Amino acid sequence: MCQFCIQHGEGKKWYLLMRNYSDELLRQEFSAGQKEMFDAPTRAEAIVRMFGAVVMPAITGVAKPENENAPARPQLGEAEIVARRQSRDFGQVLPIEDVEQVIDLADSITRMPCACRFETTGKTDQRYCFGFGVDRWGVLGKYPDAASSLETLTKDAAKKIFRAYDDEGLIHSVWTHGTPYVWGLCNCDHDCMAYRGYIERGGPAAFFRAEYICQVNDDVCTGCKNCMSQCQFGAQFYSSALGKVYIDPTRCFGCGVCRAACQHDAITLLARQAHPDAANIWLKRET
Ligand code: SF4
Ligand code: SF4
Ligand code: SF4
Repeated sequence: MCQFCIQHGEGKKWYLLMRNYSDELLRQEFSAGQKEMFDAPTRAEAIVRMFGAVVMPAITGVAKPENENAPARPQLGEAEIVARRQSRDFGQVLPIEDVEQVIDLADSITRMPCACRFETTGKTDQRYCFGFGVDRWGVLGKYPDAASSLETLTKDAAKKIFRAYDDEGLIHSVWTHGTPYVWGLCNCDHDCMAYRGYIERGGPAAFFRAEYICQVNDDVCTGCKNCMSQCQFGAQFYSSALGKVYIDPTRCFGCGVCRAACQHDAITLLARQAHPDAANIWLKRET
C-alpha cells in the first residue's frame, strides 16, 4: 500500500475511507503547518480560494492576473516539494474499478470545467473534472455565476462518462485538497499540468501510481499493438522476436486504460504489491 494508505487509510486504500470525504474533515481546523501553507483556517475556506483561483478562470475564460506583490517562492529541494504537495494537494492514479467505488462513496458529484486544460490550451469547454460535495464547499455563495457551469450528476451518469473516458485512454486520478480530504476525480492527458510537470518534464512527483499494474497474457496477445497508443506512461514495448506486447512493471502506473483497447482481453490488472518488480514503486523509480 502507498504512504497515504498507511497515513490516511487505516491500512486500507485511503481513497475508500469515508472519513476522507466527510463534512467534519472539511470544517475541521487545519494543523498549524497546513494553516500556514493555505493561509486559511479550514479546508472549506481553502477550497473556496482554490476554486476562485483555478476553476473560475476556466469557467469565465478570463485568466487570473499575475500577482506582482506575491512573496517569492522559497527554493526547495525535490523531496521538500513532494512532501509539501502531499500535505497540500496530491493525487493517485486509479483504474476504472476503483473510480466506480469512489463514485459510490461520494454523496454528490459535480462536473466542472478543467482548470489545467484552460491553462494549457485556453479552452473552457473541457469538462473533465468531477468534484465531490461541491454543494458543501460554499463556493456558490461566493461565486453565484459559477452555478450554470456546474453540472450535478447521478452516480450512474458519472460512471457512464468515466467508462467513455476510459475507452478514450484518459488517465483517472483522485485528488486531495488539504490532505487527506478528497475533493474530486480527474481525467487527464498530455494537457494536464501535473502530467506535464511530473511525467513529461521529469519534475517532482504530483501523484502516486495506482495500487495496481497491468500485465499482458502472452498466450492471448496477438501482437496487434492496439493497446500501445493508450499508454501515456511509456510502459509498453513490442517484441518483434515474439510478436507480442510487453508491459514493463517498473514503468506501469496501473491506470488500466490499455485494457479498453484490447479486443482479446489479453491485459489484466493485478495488485502492484503482488509483482516483485513493481512492489513499492509509488513515485519515481529508485534507480
Ligand atoms: S488534473 Fe486533469 S482533469 Fe483535473 S484540472 Fe488538471 S487536466 Fe483537468
Ligand atoms: S491490444 Fe491486446 S492483443 Fe493487441 S497487442 Fe495489445 S495486448 Fe496484445
Ligand atoms: S501499461 Fe500500465 S501505465 Fe500503460 S496504459 Fe496500461 S496500465 Fe496504464
